[in-house]
Amino acid sequence: MDIIRQNIEHINRKKDEITIRTGREPGEVLLVAVTKTRTAEEINAAIDAGITDIGENKVQEIISKYEKVKPVRWHMIGHLQTNKVKYIIDKVYLIHSVDSMKLALEIDKRAAQFGIFMDILIQVNAAKEDSKFGINSEETGDFIKDILENCKNIRIRGLMCIAPFKDDPEDVRVYFREVKELYVRYSGINHPRLDFKYLSMGMSHDSEIAIMEGSNLIRIGTAIFGERNYK
Ligand SMILES: *Cc1c(COP(=O)(O)O)cnc(C)c1O
Repeated sequence: MDIIRQNIEHINRKKDEITIRTGREPGEVLLVAVTKTRTAEEINAAIDAGITDIGENKVQEIISKYEKVKPVRWHMIGHLQTNKVKYIIDKVYLIHSVDSMKLALEIDKRAAQFGIFMDILIQVNAAKEDSKFGINSEETGDFIKDILENCKNIRIRGLMCIAPFKDDPEDVRVYFREVKELYVRYSGINHPRLDFKYLSMGMSHDSEIAIMEGSNLIRIGTAIFGERNYK
């Protein structure tokens, strides 16, 4: 488990170094540890090493680990089916992957039932990959307006992007730049339920480029816990 601590310390150093180089304060970029496929024991080791936020991409994994993991903020980062929203609405701090009006309406309905405001990010499919979920860049503005008009229990906190996998992460810089531009543009909307705080971009192999392009939340799995073993 020592290796988990070492990896986290290494990532934090690197992250703060790039953050400072891009003219921001160290600590301005949040590290979310992506814990899919990991055991509660591994996750707790990460929390002991300073992790405050964890990300899962499956509802089932959140439910099965929720009671076994020390207090931490849970992030839903994967594609979310509408029929599963009810299981996690009271457990997660932020849903990164809102990509349809149908999903937004269901989140809104469940949040209202619990008497809470749910914080969400809009997932943008900047590279227009068929294999990925998300709203096209050009549709982001209309989608945001739709949610603000129709979902009284949702607060829009920013944007999320999963870049295509490229051997050279330099090749995805353009997508990060594009989503950052959208982030700046729509953060200016004056509305009580829009309050941009998170630009969620960057994974193990491309997080450094993402931070350089303005990300303030990176989602890191492999570089903390090692390669995943899907059973
Ligand atoms: C798995 C996953 C990550 C982390 O990927 P690594 O390459 O292991 O760092 C980040 N974001 C999402 C949405 C994921 O599903």
